[in-house]
Amino acid sequence: MKSVAILGSTGSIGSQAVEVAGLLSDSITVEALTANSNGRLLGEQAERLKPGRVALSDPAAAKEFEGAFKAMGIDFYGGPGALGALLQEGTYDLVLNSIVGFAGLAPTLKVLELGIPLALANKESLVAGGRLVMEASRKNKAPVIPVDSEHSAIFQCLRGEDLSKLRRVILTASGGPFRDSPYDELAKVTVKETLAHPTWSMGPKVTVDSATLMNKGFEVLEAHHLFGVGLENVEVVIHPQSVIHSMVEMVDGSVLAHLGVPDMRIPIQYALTHPDRAPSPARFLSLTEYGNLSFEEVDETQYPCLALALHAGRLGGTYTAALNAANEEAVRAFLTERIGFTDIAVVVERVIEEHNSLDGDTLDEVVEADREARVLALKAISDIEGRR
Ligand code: NAD
Ligand code: MG
Repeated sequence: MKSVAILGSTGSIGSQAVEVAGLLSDSITVEALTANSNGRLLGEQAERLKPGRVALSDPAAAKEFEGAFKAMGIDFYGGPGALGALLQEGTYDLVLNSIVGFAGLAPTLKVLELGIPLALANKESLVAGGRLVMEASRKNKAPVIPVDSEHSAIFQCLRGEDLSKLRRVILTASGGPFRDSPYDELAKVTVKETLAHPTWSMGPKVTVDSATLMNKGFEVLEAHHLFGVGLENVEVVIHPQSVIHSMVEMVDGSVLAHLGVPDMRIPIQYALTHPDRAPSPARFLSLTEYGNLSFEEVDETQYPCLALALHAGRLGGTYTAALNAANEEAVRAFLTERIGFTDIAVVVERVIEEHNSLDGDTLDEVVEADREARVLALKAISDIEGRR
C-alpha cells in the first residue's frame, strides 16, 4: 500500500485526486487531506477516505471546524504552521501538492526536505523557486513527479531515455477562449467569458492564466527546471484540440508525443501510481472522433504574458518570483473586477521593470522578492483603477 497526502484536496486538482485515489483503494491509502478554508468539503472527503490527519491553513476556518474533525477521531492541524506539522508528523510514501499559488512553495520544499517523493501540480513552486526546489529534490533524493498534463506527457515520453539526447521540448497550448478575438477587444472581456475554457475544466486562477497564456509561460519555466532543458529549447505551439499533451524531440530527429483525452484525472493518476499504471475512469481517446489535429504558431502580440514570462526567465535572479507574485495579484484584481483582462499584462510588465532582483539562492530571498513584487503590483493595480 502507498500512503499518500493530498495538499489542497478541496480544489479542482485536489478533488479529482480524491476521486482517483478512492478508486485505487486496493493500492493507495490517503493518510492526509488539507485545504485552506473549505472545512465542509474537507469534512465530506474525510468521511469518505478516513485519513489519519487533516489540516485547515486558514485560522478562522480551523477554529470553526476543529471540533468536528476531532469528533471523527482525526488528528487536526490548524493555522499557519499546520501543513509543516502535518507533513512532519505523518508517514507518507508520496505527497501530492495541489495548492494554488505561491502558498505552495514552502510545502513543496518541506516535502522534499523530508525526503518524500513529490507529485507536483503547484507549478508556482517551480516558477518562483525552481532552483531551490530542484536542489532540494537532488540533495534529498526525493523525485518530483509532474502532474501538469504537459509535463506528465514529457515525463512519460522521457521514460528510459538518456536526458543528454533530448534536443527540444514542444509544449502544446490550446490558446484559450480568446485565440481568435482581436487583441483590442480583449480589454472588455468579462470574468465569466474568461472562465469558460474551451478544453479543460480547472480552478479559477489557472483558467485565467490559460486565457492570457501566462500559464504556458509558467510551463516553459516548469519544463526548464524539471527536465534541465534550456529556455531556448522549449517551443510552444498552439494545438486547439488539446489531444497531444506535449512532445519531446531527440537528437536523432525522433519526436515522441503523449496523447489522450483532455482529462486531468489521467496525469493525476499517473503521478499517484508511477511507475505503475492502473485503469482510469477517464474516457478513452477516439482519434476518428476528432478527425483533425491542428497546430499553429503562437502570435506573441496576442499573448504578451507569455513573452513576459520568457523575459523574466531569461533575466534570472528573482525575476520569475516577481513575475509570479505580480500575476497572482493581477489575476485576483481581474477576478474581483478591479482591472480589465488586458491590464493583467500591464501590471506584470510594470512589476518586472521595477523589481529589484536578488540572487534567489535562499527561500528568504524568494519570499522577500514575492513580498516586494506584491507591493509594486498593488500600486500598479490602484493606478489603473484610478484611471478607469
Ligand atoms: P483550486 O483553486 O481549484 O484549488 C486550490 C487548493 O489549494 C484548494 O484546496 C485550496 O483550499 C488550497 N489553498 C489555496 N490557498 C491556500 C493556502 N494559502 N494555504 C493552503 N492551501 C491553500 O486550484 P486548482 O485549479 O486545483 O490548481 C491547483 C494547482 O494545480 C495550481 O498550481 C495550478 O496551476 C495547477 N494545475 C491545475 C490544473 C487544473 O486542471 N486545475 C491543471 C494543471 C495544473
Ligand atoms: Mg498544463
